[in-house]
Amino acid sequence: MGIQQYPWLVERWDYLARLYDQARLPHALLINGPQGVGKTVFARAFADYLLCHQRADNHACGQCKSCLLSQSEAGHPDFYLLEPDEPGKPIKVDQVRQLTGFVNSTAQQGGYRLVMIAPAHDMNIAAANALLKTLEEPGRDTILLLLTHRLGQVMPTIKSRCQRLDIAAPAQDVAVPWVASQLQIDDARARLYLATANGSPLVALDCADDALRELREQLVIGLADILKRRRTLVEVSTQWQKLDIEQLISWLHGLLGDLARLLVSGDDSQLRHDDAANMLRALSKRVSTDRLFSYIDQVAEARRALLLRQNPNKQLLVESLLLGWIGLAQG
Ligand SMILES: [Zn+2]
Repeated sequence: MGIQQYPWLVERWDYLARLYDQARLPHALLINGPQGVGKTVFARAFADYLLCHQRADNHACGQCKSCLLSQSEAGHPDFYLLEPDEPGKPIKVDQVRQLTGFVNSTAQQGGYRLVMIAPAHDMNIAAANALLKTLEEPGRDTILLLLTHRLGQVMPTIKSRCQRLDIAAPAQDVAVPWVASQLQIDDARARLYLATANGSPLVALDCADDALRELREQLVIGLADILKRRRTLVEVSTQWQKLDIEQLISWLHGLLGDLARLLVSGDDSQLRHDDAANMLRALSKRVSTDRLFSYIDQVAEARRALLLRQNPNKQLLVESLLLGWIGLAQG
């Protein structure tokens, strides 16, 4: 699919194409945005665009020798993907050294050379240090595209050598019809999937996955049960500890973002999570801003502890989060 197929990416695309036209394209771009928003699609399409020999109308032609190479199974020889050897493992220093070899060689097709590094936050310190020189002086006509969905974990030395390009999750009025048309479902269902995906449209496509939907229901039901005293904190906590806590907390964080927007703007058309909208509306009438923001900090901290695999005590973690949740309702 071309970039036009992802309407929320078009503005960012035009911005970069304009920089290119004005010969102001930076040699290192840090593309930052939530998971499932289309960063990889975007970076690949932009690489194809720069590699194309007959760029027209801000797009790759799709037919020249370069475009055919990009589309081939082996890929374009002037495109280099740097990613972990195994999913979930960091990028290693040896891999960065291999990249340096590529960057120091001559472009085979006589044009740009493109390097995509993903995820840019998952690199050990030696690898990040080895990358610095390439980031500073990548050589002529070499463009590095670094991708991250965890900006806070990207090394500051890397960040400071890149120009940042943020890609936000699309607004509901763009995302809902898009997901609905991709999956051939109605808007209500598309909204539910988007809520499950924390607003990320490409993740929403995967939400046809029943297990994830069921997990999401457990979150919303659990939170509501506690507020309405249908179940105790300990009962819900015991159940949650057996589930994917990292995902639950990530969703909880998303719901609190909704609640904060609602509290600050008073505008409930901003709510992204339909499946919890009634609960959030009710809560927004009781909660104080101070308490909400300190709770959001607590949830973010718990999320970070899990992401960094600090192996926190899950029982304590879940119970303290649920206790904070009850505290919200007490104003
Ligand atoms: Zn082309």
